[in-house]
Amino acid sequence: MNMILLGPPGAGKGTQASILEERHGLKQLSTGDMLRSAVASGSELGRQAKQIMEDGQLMPDDLMIEMISRRIDEPDCRKGFILDGFPRTVPQAESLDELLEQKGLALEAVIEIKVPDEALVRRIETRRAESARNGSAARSDDTVETLNKRLAVYHGQTAPILPYYERTGRLKQVDGLAPIEEVTAQIEEVLGVAVKG
Ligand code: AMP
Repeated sequence: MNMILLGPPGAGKGTQASILEERHGLKQLSTGDMLRSAVASGSELGRQAKQIMEDGQLMPDDLMIEMISRRIDEPDCRKGFILDGFPRTVPQAESLDELLEQKGLALEAVIEIKVPDEALVRRIETRRAESARNGSAARSDDTVETLNKRLAVYHGQTAPILPYYERTGRLKQVDGLAPIEEVTAQIEEVLGVAVKG
């Protein structure tokens, strides 16, 4: 089964994708994680990504489409994958449909994790307070200032893909304000997969 998790930054896409990966054997494909690895490796792509990510802006569509197209071909995606952070623009969504068709792959579900902006700001403040308390490093793009920029980008460039999926009857929504396990249960219900143990 191949699916997309959509939602604003901090909605819990990554958390849900890793739970679904563990429970259902679907591969989590996070374009943000791929870019953070590129930054850590010091590659040319990483140098470009660092600035853009810290500014809360988006990487060029063609780069991201190529990155995800290559990743989907890897053997660990054969059982299915969860796209987390891709697509983020209408051109990315359109290209994804084309490339899945070329590869003979289906897209079974597009799930939006809905969370209002105010709740996202509260979440980020809690996360930063927690990492300050336990001395761990916070993500460098995890500040209220960057969140506000990322939210503007989300509403301007990413949210327009929701009607794209709605028009084709593929969009399902879950309540991202619910506790983590409940969000997972809602997603599993949408997917029609049995909840284990
Ligand atoms: P994320 O971890 O998904 O929140 O992504 C972190 C950052 O990586 C984003 O704020 C963007 O700068 C960049 N990024 C991740 N995925 C994409 C994408 N599909 N298109 C463009 N930029 C992306």
